[in-house]
Amino acid sequence: MEEQRYHRQRECMVQNQLVSRGIDDPQVLEVFGKVPRHLFVDPSQQHMAYGDHPLPIGLEQTISQPYIVALMTQSLKLEKHEKVLEIGTGSGYQTAILAELAEHVYTVERLPSLADQAKEILEELGYRNISFAAGDGARGWPDEAPFDAILVAAAAKSIPPPLLEQLAFGGRMVIPVGDISVQSLLLLTKREDSLDKQDLCGCRFVPLIQE
Ligand code: SAH
Repeated sequence: MEEQRYHRQRECMVQNQLVSRGIDDPQVLEVFGKVPRHLFVDPSQQHMAYGDHPLPIGLEQTISQPYIVALMTQSLKLEKHEKVLEIGTGSGYQTAILAELAEHVYTVERLPSLADQAKEILEELGYRNISFAAGDGARGWPDEAPFDAILVAAAAKSIPPPLLEQLAFGGRMVIPVGDISVQSLLLLTKREDSLDKQDLCGCRFVPLIQE
C-alpha cells in the first residue's frame, strides 16, 4: 500500500516537476520514476520527500530539489559507460541516480556520518557500482582520474583546479559557482584547447567547504 502511494507520488513528481520544466531524456525520467527518494530522508520527512523543494538531511545539509538533481543529471548526457565523480554525497539520492545511468560512480563526502549513512542505504538498495570516500572533494579523486563526468553538489567560489585537471577531454562537469546567496549552475565541457562554459540557471546550494 505504502509502496504504491510512493510510486504514485514519484509519477506525479516526474510529470509535474520534471517533464513540465523541460527534462526530456527518457532514461533520466525513467530513473526518477524508479529510485525511492523517500528512503534517503529521515522517516519524519518521508511524506514530503517528493515535494518540489529541497529538504534538510541533518548537519545543516540538504537533499536537493528533484528538478535540480534532474537538470544536473541530464546535462551530463550519461550513456552507461562513464566513470563519474560526485562531490557532496549528502543523502546519496543523487548518487543512486548517477549509478543507474553510468558505469561507476566515485562519490566524496566531507562529513563521515553522512557518508556512512548514504553508503548503508545505497548498499541496501543493491548498488554495487559506487565507491565511497570521506574527505575534501575539492581535491577530487586523483587515483581514479580521469573522469568522463563530474557533478559537484555544493557551491564553490571558483572552479577547483584539481577537478578540471581530473576531467577527461570531451568530459562534462556540472558545478554551482558563486557566493552563499547568488550562484550559477555551470556546465563545463573540456576540450583539448578550450573550455566551453554554459550557464544553466541560477541556484542555491550549500557551500563547498575547502580546507
Ligand atoms: N546531492 C546531495 C546534496 C547534498 S548537499 C543530495 O541530494 O543529497 C551537499 C553536500 O556536500 C553536503 O553533504 C556537504 O557536507 C558536502 N560537502 C561540502 N563541502 C564538501 C567538500 N569539500 N567535499 C565533499 N563534500 C562536501
